[in-house]
Amino acid sequence: MNIAVIGLSHKTAPVEVREKLSIPTPKVEGAIARLTSYPHVKEVSILSTCNRLELHVILSDAENGIREVTQFLADYGNVPIEELRPHLFILVQQDAIMHLLRVSSGLDSLVLGEGQILAQVKHALAESQKHKGVGRILSRLFKDAIKTGKRVRTETSIGTGAVSVSSAAAELAQMKIPNFTDCHITIIGAGKMGRLLVKHLVSKRAVNITLLNRSIKRADELAAEYSHINIKTGTMDLMEAAVTGADVVFTCTSSEHPVLHCDNLRPCIAGRPLNLFDISVPRNVHKNVTELEGVKAYTVDDLKEVVAKNQESRRQMAQEAEGILEQELNQFLKWFGSLDTVSTISSLRTKVEAIREQELEKALSRLGTDFSEKHRSVVEALSRGIVNKILHDPMTQLRAQEDAESRKQAMETLQVLFNLEEKKAAAKR
Ligand code: NAP
Repeated sequence: MNIAVIGLSHKTAPVEVREKLSIPTPKVEGAIARLTSYPHVKEVSILSTCNRLELHVILSDAENGIREVTQFLADYGNVPIEELRPHLFILVQQDAIMHLLRVSSGLDSLVLGEGQILAQVKHALAESQKHKGVGRILSRLFKDAIKTGKRVRTETSIGTGAVSVSSAAAELAQMKIPNFTDCHITIIGAGKMGRLLVKHLVSKRAVNITLLNRSIKRADELAAEYSHINIKTGTMDLMEAAVTGADVVFTCTSSEHPVLHCDNLRPCIAGRPLNLFDISVPRNVHKNVTELEGVKAYTVDDLKEVVAKNQESRRQMAQEAEGILEQELNQFLKWFGSLDTVSTISSLRTKVEAIREQELEKALSRLGTDFSEKHRSVVEALSRGIVNKILHDPMTQLRAQEDAESRKQAMETLQVLFNLEEKKAAAKR
C-alpha cells in the first residue's frame, strides 16, 4: 500500500486558487464517497483550511491513484488540470507521513506554530471516520500526527505567545491604522476566528466594535464576555449600516460566497477611506471592491507581510521540534512496515496449523477409543505448545526487521522454505 498526499497550500497556490478547491464540511461526505469509488483509492481524509486543501490517501497503486485524485481535484474545482498542476504538491510514503506530522505541529502553517491547525486535523479525522473514508492506516497516521502536534506544543516553545491568523490580521491592521482607540471597527462573523479577532483587537485597545453574525445569539454571547467595552451586535441584515460607520472591517464567516462586493459596498463609503481585512477562504470580500475609491482590501495572503517579521525567531523554535518529528516518524514507519509481514505470518500459521491438525488426527485415531478425553486434550495441548514455540522465533525475527529490504528478504526466505501459498500466488501473477 502507498501513502500519499495531494494538495495545495499557501506555499504553492494563491487564495484565488485555494478558494476554488476548498471543501467545506457539508461537502466532505460527497467528496469522500467519490474518491473512495476510484479503483486505486483505498482510504482518504480531507484537510481543508484557509491555507490548505490536502487529500491524504492510501493507494493500491501510486501512479494510477495519484492520477485519479488529481483528476478529482480538477473536476471539483472546475479548473483545467494543466492550470491546476503547477499549484499542486504530491508527496508519497515517508515524505507524505512527515508532511502530516509537520502540518499538525503548526510547522507548515503561514503563522508558524499557530494552534488552530491541530483542531482542524482532528476535525479531518473525525469527518473521515464518520463518512468511512479512513481505514486502519490513515486512522493510525492521523492519530500519530495529532499526538505529535500535542507533543510539539507541550515539549517545545513553538506555541508560545498566542499566534493565529486572527492575531496576524489584527497586527496587519495596526500596521495600516496605528491607533485603534479612535477607530470604528466592524467584525462580520462571530465564530472561532471572530472570537480571536475580538480578543486581539481589544488587547490592542480597540473600543468601538460592532460585531455582526448570521445568528445573533453567538454574537451576543461573545460581546457579553467583554462587558467593560461596548460591543454592539447585530445580524447580517445590518451590514450596510455597520459598514457605513466603520473605518476598518474584518470578515471571517464560512460563507461560500462574498458577503461584500462593490455593489453593496458603494453606498456605504461615500469616498472615505475604508480598510477591509478578509481572513476567510473562500473569500468574503469580492476582489471588485478595489474598484471603489478609498477602499483597500487585504486577504489572508497579505498576512505574509506581518508573518515575515517574526518568522526568523519562530523558525529557531521550530528546530526544537525536529527531534520529536523524527521519533514519531520512525515509530509510524516501524508499524507501517510491520503490516507487510501480516500476510506472510498468517500463511505460515495457517500452513503449520493444518499440519498440526492432520498429524494429531492421525495419532488420535491410531490410539483408538481406549484413550480418554483427558489424555486427548493433553496431547492436543502438547501439539499446540510445540507449534507455538517453533513459530515464535521466526515470527519475532520477521517483525523485528526494521528496514524494508531486510524485511522483504526475510519474508521471501520464509515463503520459499515453507513453500507458502502466498509465494505461489505471487509467482502466478
Ligand atoms: P466557525 O467557527 O465555524 O464559524 C463560522 C462563522 O461563519 C459563524 O459566524 C457562522 O455564523 C458564519 N457563517 C457560516 N455560514 C455563513 C453564511 N452562509 N453566511 C454568513 N455567515 C455564515 O469558522 P471559523 O473557524 O471562525 O472560520 C471562519 C472563516 O475564517 C472561514 O472562511 C475559514 O476558512 C477562515 N479561517 C479559519 C481559520 C481557523 O483556524 N479556524 C484560520 C484562518 C481563516 P453562525 O454562527 O450563524 O453559524
